[in-house]
Amino acid sequence: MREQIAYLVQLQGIDDEAGLVRARLSVCANRLKELEVQLSGLSVRLESQQAERRQLQARQKDLTYKIEDANRLSKKAEKRLMEIKTSREYRALQRELEDAKGNIREMEEEVIVCMERSEELDKSIAALSGEHGELEKIYLQEKKDVDAEVAGKEGRLEELTAGREEIAGQMRPQLFQRYQRILIAMSGRAVVAVVSSVCRGCNMNVPPQIYNDLQKGEDLKYCPHCERIIYWKQEDEEDGEED
Ligand SMILES: [Zn+2]
Repeated sequence: MREQIAYLVQLQGIDDEAGLVRARLSVCANRLKELEVQLSGLSVRLESQQAERRQLQARQKDLTYKIEDANRLSKKAEKRLMEIKTSREYRALQRELEDAKGNIREMEEEVIVCMERSEELDKSIAALSGEHGELEKIYLQEKKDVDAEVAGKEGRLEELTAGREEIAGQMRPQLFQRYQRILIAMSGRAVVAVVSSVCRGCNMNVPPQIYNDLQKGEDLKYCPHCERIIYWKQEDEEDGEED
């Protein structure tokens, strides 16, 4: 049984490390994802402002042509005004001219609105582009670091899995299955040390009889409080978590 208990302790050591490695991998993946979300948010804003800027440019160009046409027509009408003979015709044409000029003024005002908004957008687009560029630099650097770390961690995880299988192969199948069950039920901590009578799983004192038996290491013992598999560890071995 002593040997089986040693295997259990090793197994827990491996699972502890694998748990830490997996947690770190998930932190790495989340960090990259977070940056990707920020980057794509900036891209979306940038693209929408650029699209608005293009629309404004097209509208401004369109208005400029229309204003030129309207001015040309007004000039012609002004010339015709000189040649008109009847006052009725004169008044009609004059009204037409005034309408046309009013229309030109409106279009010119719209051009100014377009220009003002374009200036605003240009500033915002420049700021967003800068922000995007900076963030992209950070992302690429971080991705390089994360990719390297992930490769290392995945390699370690493979080693741990191989080590786990090796130990499992040497264990009594029933004991291994029991370990697996407790591991799941106890959120990853199935085997814990008892140091100076205190269970490291639940920090409760184990009864003296169990503690005495535990020190002999002859039978498999469970914590009466948290029901984890327990083993005896000397006080000066504390925090060593040797395997
Ligand atoms: Zn306990």
